[in-house]
Amino acid sequence: MTQNWDVVIVGGGLAGYVAANYLTEANLSILVIEKGKVVGGRARTNKVKQQYLNLGPHALLKKGKATSILKELGISLSGKSPKLGGILVENNMEYVAPFSPLGLFTTRLLNNKERIEWIAALWKVMTIDPENLAEQTFQQWVIQISNSEKIKSLLYMLARLATYCHAPEMVSAKVTILNIKNAMAGVIYLDGGWQTIIDQLHNTAITSGIQLRTHTLVKEIHPAQQNQFKLILSNEEEIYAKYVICTTGPHELNDMLNKHVQYQQNSFFTEMIAVKGATLDVALTQLPNPRRLFAMNITDPFYYSVHSNYARLSDDGKSAVLHVFKYHHPNDCIDGTSSKNELEKFLDRLQPGWQKYVIKSRFIPTITVNQRLPQIGDEHMLLRSKTEILGLYIAGDWTSPNAILAEGAISSGKQAAEDILLKEEEENSANYKRRI
Ligand SMILES: Cc1cc2nc3c(=O)[nH]c(=O)nc-3n(C[C@H](O)[C@H](O)[C@H](O)COP(=O)(O)OP(=O)(O)OC[C@H]3O[C@@H](n4cnc5c(N)ncnc54)[C@H](O)[C@@H]3O)c2cc1C
Repeated sequence: MTQNWDVVIVGGGLAGYVAANYLTEANLSILVIEKGKVVGGRARTNKVKQQYLNLGPHALLKKGKATSILKELGISLSGKSPKLGGILVENNMEYVAPFSPLGLFTTRLLNNKERIEWIAALWKVMTIDPENLAEQTFQQWVIQISNSEKIKSLLYMLARLATYCHAPEMVSAKVTILNIKNAMAGVIYLDGGWQTIIDQLHNTAITSGIQLRTHTLVKEIHPAQQNQFKLILSNEEEIYAKYVICTTGPHELNDMLNKHVQYQQNSFFTEMIAVKGATLDVALTQLPNPRRLFAMNITDPFYYSVHSNYARLSDDGKSAVLHVFKYHHPNDCIDGTSSKNELEKFLDRLQPGWQKYVIKSRFIPTITVNQRLPQIGDEHMLLRSKTEILGLYIAGDWTSPNAILAEGAISSGKQAAEDILLKEEEENSANYKRRI
């Protein structure tokens, strides 16, 4: 295998594969290096006993940037949108969720005054320009919107649902509102899970000549000398590249660079806080209570949704695949056993006796959902896909100032590829002019 590449992409998740797919436009030699045995990163889906389990609940924004980029790349996305509605739990009581017009007018969660306040709050979310909220935390914005503790709790819950962030006192109001607005336009659960996106991106990349090495970790990146980066791999092998796109997390990037280069973004990357949660992914032969498809706790950070009601997530299409999730606060001292008990208790309430029907149950006590909790001022530190190091680009769910989750990963993957294509075009036209 050649040791000199035009582009080396570190990481074979959504960001890496989207970048690779866009780079196939040019005549470049491209290598994707993935430390895992399999590709996909956090968009992987495990097939266990004919059931397709995403790593926790995954919903794709119907009208987001990610969907339009994937469509542009020819990726087919099949699946359905979950209906608005479900149950909200507060102080051990269950209420109809005030998300649909019917829910709004029938729920006993809200009195008439609160009903009007909730409509006004939703209206504000829909109509406000998020650009005006760049200097506020989400909590500061919510406090201005309402005095009612119930309305505030509902807004925090909506933010958890749309962003997975459970730290309203820290998270940027601008990014939160942007994401709530996007989520309100609808999401889809994908047939076969998110692996179907990865598989399609992978197939196009491979048939276009892109090389892939799995089970290989990039240990060090030595910035460009004579227009070449040197990368040292886990087996001590050295490879060279003109451009590097790094799609790992910010801490891994610092580790790979740290010893060899000082750059200003370094401390910002070091201090970046990840958004984390615990997930209980369950496949059942049937639901004890088939009518219960979605629920959230208003004050405690719990989520439940039956994804297989809208997406085909098993070979026979008959079983029920659901996810129960706990949103972690950055200061949480995570205790796996108690998180598991809490999630199982939440599921017991919604689907009593579910244990009798288990095909597969998998608990992950802590998983990074997004590599960056978006905070005020992040946009001054993130230079889109560019870094201060010429030729080194970053992509991933933490690298776009205003986009997070798959939106951030996919749009930054495209951005990094476009930046490299532009740089190549500029170089080629400069060389051409020199020749004539
Ligand atoms: C529980 C959960 C629920 C989620 N729900 C949603 C949702 O509903 N909607 C949504 O839009 N998004 C959701 N997400 C987020 C989404 O899955 C991620 O944002 C997206 O998959 C991140 O893609 P990425 O390419 O940026 O990173 P990753 O998928 O993490 O890919 C990075 C890759 O780099 C590899 N790597 C790291 N270091 C090295 C190294 N040194 N050398 C070689 N390889 C390396 C890793 O193994 C990994 O495969 C969820 C995530 C989780 C965990």
